This record gives sequence, structure tokens and C-alpha cells, in this order.
Amino acid sequence: MPEVQLVRCDDRVQLMRGFSFKGDPRIADWQRTKLRVFCSALDGNVVHLANDLGLKVFEEDLLPYERGFLEKAPSLGSQSGWVVRINRRDRPETQKFTIAHEVGHFVLHGARLEGLDALDGRVNRSTEGSLDPFSYLEDRDRVMESEANSFAAALLMPKNLFEPAFNRLSGDVDAIARLFAVSDSAVGRRLRELGLR
Ligand SMILES: [Zn+2]
Repeated sequence: MPEVQLVRCDDRVQLMRGFSFKGDPRIADWQRTKLRVFCSALDGNVVHLANDLGLKVFEEDLLPYERGFLEKAPSLGSQSGWVVRINRRDRPETQKFTIAHEVGHFVLHGARLEGLDALDGRVNRSTEGSLDPFSYLEDRDRVMESEANSFAAALLMPKNLFEPAFNRLSGDVDAIARLFAVSDSAVGRRLRELGLR
């Protein structure tokens, strides 16, 4: 008899099954279509995807430990009024994952964004203007962060492409990372998510 488990939406559950774009009610059909096209090949440009979803992406001089964040900036002319800012000094594969992570927040957590003027790496200034600048939203909602990471992993290492690559490359993490243009640690995470390691 299978073991009955009471599961909640926490890191462990997310990590075990990975994220699926299919059937998530937070994703609009037109967004899902764009995500599906992106996931059908390895040569997709994540900046173009972000643009297609209504975001503009800017490289910035951020603090060394900041990967990036979403910011409401209507004057910059993105379709949604939101922009993604990424760290100019990060490696390309890190920047790519950061953009995919912020796209994940934008698509999955849009309702939450309505009351904010920024997400990730910045305090929520619209409601907590006097807070310590070093208290970050990303530490406050681990479920949201875990979801954005799983979303990014599913986007950049789609299961239908990742599993065959894993078999063809005999599980060589470096080679898989080069093929998908992501970091070794992102590959490691995806292997665990998909139960391949
Ligand atoms: Zn985040």
C-alpha cells in the first residue's frame, strides 16, 4: 500500500516534483503559449521572452550580493510598467537564471505585486518605507522564492529536453550546464527535482 503523505506547498514538495506550467491557474493562456514555445528549443533568448511578457530588462551596478529584482517603473516604457534589473557583474548564466526567476515572480505572483513597487533585493518601500534597508522581501516568503526558482529551472532546463540530454551526456554535469547555458549548481538542483540524482 502506498505511503500516505500529508504534504504542504513547501520547499521540499516543490523540489521533489519540479514546476509544471501546465494547469497552473496563475498563468494566463497567452503567457503559457509563449512559455511553451520558449521551452520547445534550446536557443530561446530569455530577455526576448521577458520582453514578450511585458517586461524590460536592464543591467545595473548592483551590490555584489544582489542578483536582481523586479521594479515598478512605468516611465521606462515596458508594457506592464515593470522592469527587471540584473547585476552587470554577474556571469551570463547567472544573469539568465535571475531573469527567469524574476519572470517567474511576474507570472506567478502578479497578484502579490499589485501592492508592491519592487520585489527581490529591495524592501517593499510602498508599505514599509521606514524599514531597515537590509531586510529583504526574499527572506520573508520562502514559498514564493522556491516557486520562482523552480519556475526558472523548468523554463531554462525543460524536462522534455533535459532528460534526453542527461542520458546522452551520461549525467556529466559540466557538459549539461554548457548545453543549457546555466550554472553547475542550477543543473544540480534540476537533477534533484527530476529525481535523476
Ligand atoms: Zn525572488
